[in-house]
Amino acid sequence: MKIAVLREGATGETRAALMPESVRGLVAQGVEVRIESGAGERASAGDQSYGEAGAIVTNDRRELIRSAEVLLCVNRPSDDDIAVLQPGAVVIGFLRPLDDSASLIQLLERRLTAFAMELIPRSTRAQTMDALSSMATIVGYKSALLAAERLPRMFPLLMTAAGTIAPAKVLVLGAGVAGLQAIATARRLGAVVEAYDVRGAAGEHVRSLGAKFLEVDLGGIKTEDAGGYAVELTEEALARGRELITKHASVSDVIITSAQVPGRPAPLLVTEDAVEKMKPGSVIVDLAGSTGGNCAASSPGETVDRNGVVIMSPLNLAATLPVHASQLYSRNIAAFLKLLIDDNGELKIDLNDDVVGPTCVLHNGEVVNQRVAAALETAARVP
Ligand code: NAD
Repeated sequence: MKIAVLREGATGETRAALMPESVRGLVAQGVEVRIESGAGERASAGDQSYGEAGAIVTNDRRELIRSAEVLLCVNRPSDDDIAVLQPGAVVIGFLRPLDDSASLIQLLERRLTAFAMELIPRSTRAQTMDALSSMATIVGYKSALLAAERLPRMFPLLMTAAGTIAPAKVLVLGAGVAGLQAIATARRLGAVVEAYDVRGAAGEHVRSLGAKFLEVDLGGIKTEDAGGYAVELTEEALARGRELITKHASVSDVIITSAQVPGRPAPLLVTEDAVEKMKPGSVIVDLAGSTGGNCAASSPGETVDRNGVVIMSPLNLAATLPVHASQLYSRNIAAFLKLLIDDNGELKIDLNDDVVGPTCVLHNGEVVNQRVAAALETAARVP
């Protein structure tokens, strides 16, 4: 089996899909790994380290793609790259199958097989492959650092000869993987942290990190699906959450938002009114920018100022820590690949496997995932 890894082309992308440590394991399984020169450069993995791990490093990008049986990527490859892949080739990466399903059409037309790392099930068996959690861990950590760096106050409580410095108050909205990491990081820096999530189970996690969990009476409605993900709430339930958030925003120095509903626009949690009630100098870090944002005043990819309140909405925070982001992603990909390689180092695709099946979006020119098929149908109806 021939695996190819390209230098990522997206603006601002620094991550590599495969790091030398993972190459070593694949080569030991009898796989041929080809890397485009410079693929790991921004993640501190030079061509030499890939060569030493047993990969073939090349400058011939076109030939690399043309001969690939499996193309590993962080982001979906460009149209030009996809056009060079052989029909039947496999693409594995963050393919945005639910929020940008239209971009899968070219892969479909080329009769490619595609696995979306976003769809790796959140099961115990697939934990080592959970790339969403890997990236969310990094994003959550970095969001707290960004806020601390921007805030004109310190995070910890300090007793000095010149008197006491009160700790910063941080409010975290959405206590999934990213939110919990933001809480843990803000707590380590000494902030007093509160958090809100619609899933009751999040309360226990929040409290175990030494933060206060804010509870809202949502009238007993269903807030999560069978997979443990939050569902889209009714307008009334959302309004109850916003009311509580507005009250707590006025006494918070920092708000970090990470609330998401898979395949849906991010819920609006911080209203213009809530931003207006915050003290000048306060900071909001909105981590949901790629799906529209949790804050009414945020502008995805930009930092804006509203009467002295700074609102940041970074779109690819994981790329600001490329070494660890690439290491984790590469390990996730390598663990997933183990399910696609037979004893002779050849490609085998078993769609009945409970991780391989749900992760596959396209196979032999067909959409094989129902949620993706529905998203594609909707995309086709929108002019
Ligand atoms: P996510 O990125 O989809 O969403 C982030 C958080 O936003 C979630 O906690 C969600 O409940 C919350 N949220 C959604 N709508 C909200 C609203 N209106 N108000 C407030 N909060 C809102 O979530 P994630 O971090 O990817 O995790 C999703 C689920 O998967 C969680 O239950 C998590 O514990 C679980 N998980 C399980 C495993 C595993 O078992 N292997 C691994 C990772 C995550």
